[in-house]
Amino acid sequence: MSRIFSGIQPSGELHIGNYLGAVRNWVRLQHEFESIFCVVDYHAITLPYEPDMLRERRHAMAVSLLAAGIDPNVCTLFVQSQVPEHTELAWFFNTITPLGELERQTQFKEKSQRQESVAAGILNYPVLQAADILLYRADTVPVGEDQVQHLELSRVVARKWNSMFGRRTGRTLDDGTEEREAFFPEPQALLTPTRRIMGLDGHAKMSKSMGNTIALLETPEQIWAKLRPAVTDPKRIKRTDPGTPEVCNIYHLHKAFSPPETVEHVAHMCRTAGWGCIDCKKVLAESMETELVPIRRRAAELAADPSRVDDALASGAAHCRAIARETIDAARERMGF
Ligand code: SF4
Repeated sequence: MSRIFSGIQPSGELHIGNYLGAVRNWVRLQHEFESIFCVVDYHAITLPYEPDMLRERRHAMAVSLLAAGIDPNVCTLFVQSQVPEHTELAWFFNTITPLGELERQTQFKEKSQRQESVAAGILNYPVLQAADILLYRADTVPVGEDQVQHLELSRVVARKWNSMFGRRTGRTLDDGTEEREAFFPEPQALLTPTRRIMGLDGHAKMSKSMGNTIALLETPEQIWAKLRPAVTDPKRIKRTDPGTPEVCNIYHLHKAFSPPETVEHVAHMCRTAGWGCIDCKKVLAESMETELVPIRRRAAELAADPSRVDDALASGAAHCRAIARETIDAARERMGF
C-alpha cells in the first residue's frame, strides 16, 4: 500500500475552508493509503506566536481532526515536534538545497513582503516540508494547488540527495554516470478534489487571519449569523434578478455540502429568480447541519475526555518515531556519520 503524508498547521479549531480543502479528503484517503497525518507545529513558529496559544491551538486542532473523522485506529495522527528527527533531516536537506530554489518560492515572496525583518525559517520552510514527507519516505502527498510548488521542491531535494548519497548500484546510466539507489522516493501530488474555498466575504481565500471563516464546531446560530450576510452573486441586486450560481460562493458551498439534486435545484432557482438568496442560504445551513452535527457530537465527547486525544497523539508519535529513526539512521550512515 502506498504511503501518504500530509500536515496541517495548529491554527486552533478547523474552519470549513481547511475541512473541505484538506481534511475531508484525508478522512476518505485514510482507508485507501497507509496514511500519516501531522499537526506541523514547527512550521507554525516561523511567524511570531505566543507559546501558550501554540499549546492551546495544537490541542484544538487535534480535537477537530479526530472529530472530523480522522481515525487513529485506521491511520496515524501525531504532532511534528514529538518526533525531533524532522529537524535533523531538515538540516541535512538544508545543506544541499540551492538557495535560488528557495528564494523563488511564491509563498516565501508573499510572506517576506509582509514582514519588516524576515526570519530564515520562512525561507527554509519548504525544506522542513521536504523533510516531513521524506522522513516517512512517503510517495504520495495530498495537496491543494497552492502547495504544488513546495512539493516540487521536495522532489528536487530527494533527487539531489539520492544522486549525492544514494548507494551505487553498479549499473552505468546512458549518460555514462553510475546509477545510485533512489533511497528517497520523489513524492507525487494527489490534488485535493475540492476547489479553493473562498471566504464569506467572497473576495479572499477562507482563512482565519482574514476573519471570513465558519469554524467547524460553531453552533447553528453562529453559523447562520455568518451565512446570512455572506456575499453572493454581486449582480443579483433585487429578489427578482436572475442570478449566476457559478459566480456565487454560496453555490460552491452547496456543491460541497448539499446532495446533487439540491445543487441542481439551487442552480435552477437562482437562474430563474425562483427564490431569494436568504432562502438559498437557509437550505445551505440545513445541509451543513447534516454534516456538522456528528462532528460536533464527537468533539464534545473528546472535550469531556481529553486523555483520548493525548493517547491518540502519543501512540501516533511512537509509531512515527520508529519509522523516522530507521530513515535517519540509514541517511546518517550514507552521509558519513
Ligand atoms: Fe447565490 Fe443562491 Fe443567491 Fe443564487 S440564489 S446568488 S446561488 S445565494
